[in-house]
Amino acid sequence: MVLALAGTFTPEDSSGTASVETAETAETASADGGPLAAARIVESHAEGKAAVNLEEAQVIVAGGRGVGSADGFAQLQQLADALGGAVGASRAAADAGWVPYQLQIGQTGKVVKPALYLAAGISGAIQHRVGMQTAENVVAINKDPDAPIGEFADLFVVGDLFAIIPRLTDEIRRRKGA
Ligand SMILES: Cc1cc2nc3c(=O)[nH]c(=O)nc-3n(C[C@H](O)[C@H](O)[C@H](O)COP(=O)(O)OP(=O)(O)OC[C@H]3O[C@@H](n4cnc5c(N)ncnc54)[C@H](O)[C@@H]3O)c2cc1C
Repeated sequence: MVLALAGTFTPEDSSGTASVETAETAETASADGGPLAAARIVESHAEGKAAVNLEEAQVIVAGGRGVGSADGFAQLQQLADALGGAVGASRAAADAGWVPYQLQIGQTGKVVKPALYLAAGISGAIQHRVGMQTAENVVAINKDPDAPIGEFADLFVVGDLFAIIPRLTDEIRRRKGA
């Protein structure tokens, strides 16, 4: 059995012809076909509203320590909404409590593979990079021209994200006629 982190590879069509055998075991379901007879729920929690699944999103607007607050992430959410995408975050932003850990991308977070990854206020540490390096296009906004993310971004915009993100959001809405 092989397990791979979601988003790590691009699936390819296969001409393989593996045979499938279905094995039934006595414990798989209760007599009425309901949940596992032996299973019991010990804890449950609501995961909060996620309009777009991060691991399946084709557009991700991710924020880091440079976003500065939960209010700052609200601006990223508006841009993500305009693009039909999802919001992600670096560990620094999750550690600060500005977003839930379920949005963290990287070595100890999620691995994503969107068509567009827009990173705002993220320096590009290796532990973050391993979670998004297979994105098809990386756009980074950072006020530090020497930020490491500039070395692997396809488009590196040097500037203040708070000046750029709202204008970008307005322009996308305008072009979409929203
Ligand atoms: C074992 C281990 C596992 C880890 N796992 C992860 C992980 O899964 N994911 C992860 O992300 N990190 C992970 N980290 C942490 C990682 O090493 C970095 O500390 C973290 O990614 C830094 O987050 P950041 O880029 O948001 O913050 P910083 O490195 O502090 O970068 C903030 C950036 O914002 C820029 N900035 C500030 N203000 C503005 C502004 N107004 N406009 C534009 N730019 C601005 C700054 O120039 C800077 O480049 C892990 C670390 C360890 C040791």
